[in-house]
Amino acid sequence: MKILVVNAGSSSLKSQLIETDGKVSQMKCLAEKVGTPECTMSISFAPDFKKMRYKMEGASVTQCLKRLLDVMVDDPESPISGLGQIDAIGNRIVAGGEHFSKTTIIDEEARKLLDDCELLAPLHNPPADACIDMMHELMPNTPQAGVFDTAFHTTMPPKAYLYPLPMRYYEEYRIRRYGAHGTSHRYAAQQAANLMGRPLRDLGLITCHLGNGGSITAVNHGKSIDTTMGFTPLEGLMMGTRSGSIDPAIITYIMRREGKTFDDMDEILNRESGILGVSGISSDMRDVLDAAEGGNERAQLAIDMYVYRIQKAIGSFYAAMTKTDAVVMTAGIGENSAKLRERIFAGLAHMGMILDKERNDVTGQIGVNRIISIDDSPIKICVVTTDEEMRIARETANLVSQMA
Ligand code: AMP
Repeated sequence: MKILVVNAGSSSLKSQLIETDGKVSQMKCLAEKVGTPECTMSISFAPDFKKMRYKMEGASVTQCLKRLLDVMVDDPESPISGLGQIDAIGNRIVAGGEHFSKTTIIDEEARKLLDDCELLAPLHNPPADACIDMMHELMPNTPQAGVFDTAFHTTMPPKAYLYPLPMRYYEEYRIRRYGAHGTSHRYAAQQAANLMGRPLRDLGLITCHLGNGGSITAVNHGKSIDTTMGFTPLEGLMMGTRSGSIDPAIITYIMRREGKTFDDMDEILNRESGILGVSGISSDMRDVLDAAEGGNERAQLAIDMYVYRIQKAIGSFYAAMTKTDAVVMTAGIGENSAKLRERIFAGLAHMGMILDKERNDVTGQIGVNRIISIDDSPIKICVVTTDEEMRIARETANLVSQMA
């Protein structure tokens, strides 16, 4: 099946055309700085993926998507010559609230429920919804699936998803933990089970998605029982530009001291904090690692804090489960940084997570799923490569083939 994956973010659009039978990508597209005068879009086709670049000044996410469709229909290198050759569309949707516990076909009823979820991810859900509506107008007979970041976490028990606030905030506004990165945690857990040669339902796993955004999930018998991200993706670990968990009283304190508005605080906590805020250098871990190596103390402090908070989260989920068989590392930092993995697990050996230095080394191993703990480590440590667009395409194809 040819699946068009649409991953619309607050200021970006990622898309791929994926042939799910051969598990190959045939088109890749990335639009950045969407909605600003600097918006640009690159599109490339298999086999050589030579990038064509387009200036998209001020374009919205739907205008970028429409341009992509036009290029896909017109370009002689494109694997399709008409939109009818696309079998289904897989949309990544950040927040599915309590409505969506699995990948779902977006019919009229589901589309209405999506409106309810917009407030839960005000930056991410509206552009995804706009893309769904536009695709529905252009291709009304092509099935569209919603693949939700929150769906995997709908198995959490109330003791994990409720906040200790007056209950009416949950009852009236559905304020609770929803989590995120769900497709990544689910995939990482399954891949770790494959590596260990054991059924997922028998395992207790702690999955760590460490990228620009980061979250850790306790996966017991294949089900998410707790996760670090909360009502929004701001809670939990320290991230590239997000603070993660802080004392909530700090927010009102800063507002009073500096006369900040709600929007100012959103900006500070989501875009100016985390690794960027502490290091003062960059949100990109590679830059910060380089700076620390060159002796920059703030960069070193940011790394120390980042590692410490991950260690504490892994420790708390170890306590949350009845047994832990493996810790799984995935996403940009989790997959690629042997150095940070070494730092993280150096502090966790006393819990039985013992890294093998040679297996941890990345040389020649990028993109290879593997176990990197020593043979008799009581708890295994695994590295799993994530491919979000491929996962969305496969989940969409599975669902659509069940409809047929
Ligand atoms: P993601 O959001 O999954 O694309 O991950 C992006 C993050 O991964 C950025 O902070 C990158 O600096 C980081 N990253 C990618 N490769 C490496 C690497 N080799 N070492 C350290 N960090 C890396």
